Amino acid sequence: MAGHLLILGAPGAGKGTQAMRLAGKHRWAHISTGDIFRRHGERGTEFGKKIEGYLKAGELVPDSLTCEVLVDRLSQSDCDNGYILDGFPRSVRQAEQLDRMLEEREEALDAVIVLDIGDDEIVERLTARRNCPKCGKIYNLKFSPPAIEGACDNETCGGAALEEREDDCEETIRQRLKVYHESTEPLIEHYAARELVQSIDAAAEGPCEIADKIEDILLAQGVS
Ligand code: AMP
Repeated sequence: MAGHLLILGAPGAGKGTQAMRLAGKHRWAHISTGDIFRRHGERGTEFGKKIEGYLKAGELVPDSLTCEVLVDRLSQSDCDNGYILDGFPRSVRQAEQLDRMLEEREEALDAVIVLDIGDDEIVERLTARRNCPKCGKIYNLKFSPPAIEGACDNETCGGAALEEREDDCEETIRQRLKVYHESTEPLIEHYAARELVQSIDAAAEGPCEIADKIEDILLAQGVS
């Protein structure tokens, strides 16, 4: 069944890990605006040049550019079977734009999952975060390290060297958290008013327990 989910939470709360798992399991598209922006940066596109300064500073990319990317991504056929939004919307204004896009597509959100976690835990996690440049798998050197130090576990990646995100340094993390509290957190209220919000304590639970809780939420919503 086509699910339309939104995962909200501070940077490092585990949105990407959960979204990737859900997308694989349910064959839904995983839409991460942050990943799309980073790919533009890596490919050195004109668009990438326009946005790289925002990413490096931990600031939000302007809404017009972000919504352009989202409209384009939603137009791809893999979204017809459902999708998980990871990192969009990040402000009430973006949420209002999303409402309009959903209306045009005659779709509605099934649930908004909030991964709740404190700032100090975030800083500890993000400074230990690494990812595989080939498959995108996310590791944490403390909680979920790879079997071989510094290399991706996936056989198909051939031991690819894990990388650290440029914006995962403490100064930028603190700035991203500030932006989260100011611009993104108010979205919880925005969606709570529609009774869509389901919060999970992401500090107390490990990735597998969180995944189980999300599946329970989906079952309760009649999405599976
Ligand atoms: P993420 O990978 O979701 O942590 O996003 C990395 C960076 O991309 C953010 O710090 C922002 O600079 C930018 N970004 C991602 N999604 C958005 C969005 N919805 N609106 C504005 N900027 C975004």
